[in-house]
Amino acid sequence: MTYQGLIHRYRQYLDLPAHTQIISLNEGNTPLIPMPRLGREFGCELFIKFEGLNPTGSFKDRGMTAAISEAVGRGAKTVICASTGNTAASAAAYAARAGLRSIVLIPEGKVAVGKLAGAIAYGAEVIQIQGSFDDALTLVVEITQKTPIALVNSINPYRIEGQKTSPFEICDELGSAPDWLCLPVGNAGNITSYWAGFKQYQKGLPHILGVQAEGAAPLVLGHPVDKPETIATAIRIGKPARGEQALEAAHESNGKIIAVSDAQILGAQRILASEGVWVEPASAAGLAGLVAETSRGSLDAKGKRIVIVCTGHGMKDPSIITESFTSPKLIPASYQALVDVIGE
Ligand SMILES: *Cc1c(COP(=O)(O)O)cnc(C)c1O
Repeated sequence: MTYQGLIHRYRQYLDLPAHTQIISLNEGNTPLIPMPRLGREFGCELFIKFEGLNPTGSFKDRGMTAAISEAVGRGAKTVICASTGNTAASAAAYAARAGLRSIVLIPEGKVAVGKLAGAIAYGAEVIQIQGSFDDALTLVVEITQKTPIALVNSINPYRIEGQKTSPFEICDELGSAPDWLCLPVGNAGNITSYWAGFKQYQKGLPHILGVQAEGAAPLVLGHPVDKPETIATAIRIGKPARGEQALEAAHESNGKIIAVSDAQILGAQRILASEGVWVEPASAAGLAGLVAETSRGSLDAKGKRIVIVCTGHGMKDPSIITESFTSPKLIPASYQALVDVIGE
């Protein structure tokens, strides 16, 4: 049977209302890529769950198929979200698929070019806010309380339902949950979903390592951050909507939430690319966290099975790469010039 998207595949495990009308782009079913060379360095069995291979290039599609399917079923005509970029692109794509109007609020000047382009391409009405992601989220919550516009941020419970399917897939593929699961934490919807999904599926429980960026680490500091700053724009969030649940997931799983620097994140991005997996900066935070924890001796990876969730594709934020190198060498179109420059 052909794959028809994750609601179709896991409907019995998802708490979605009867009126749900499936809107799908065949999201999910993403590869769990073995990383034997990198795994040897940690002495563990290592996998990347590459969520950048969803239809719009991030894991947001898992929650969005659920949120939009529910909204369509209840007769919504317009959806809205606040976004650091990936939610915007995903909401726009699924709204387009369903024939809905989509409005996205983004923080001024801080959205990666691949994400903004996506939202525009799929036909969203994009509005910039003179403020942060957190300010944008406050505004969309208010407007959805006062009008029939449907909210599709991850405070929408159906987003969490859809995102539970990634842990289901991991358990189906490995036969059981891994020992550790490492992932970035921004607004904390995803860590909440993973923990709920593993608990529900009853194939064992991983320890969860949630990773924030140092300049946007409210859950590590224990208080909101007014002006969050990091190159990992997808987790540039100072007041996570599901912060409490994230702390609970880390605590209950006997895991932890830590912070890493932008330099550590970019280092992890380079390591992943050197293994053939190009992810956007935020998506490298899981590996950066694992590197930090193992090198200071506070996480023992030896002999363990570890899954790192890479949440979004590298093509979402190409300028982080292109801005850091000079343009390619230019040579005359002659064989000799080519041989000279290659030097072999
Ligand atoms: C949204 C997003 C995150 C953060 O997920 P939360 O559910 O907000 O914690 C991390 N990485 C990428 C690429 C994202 O798009």
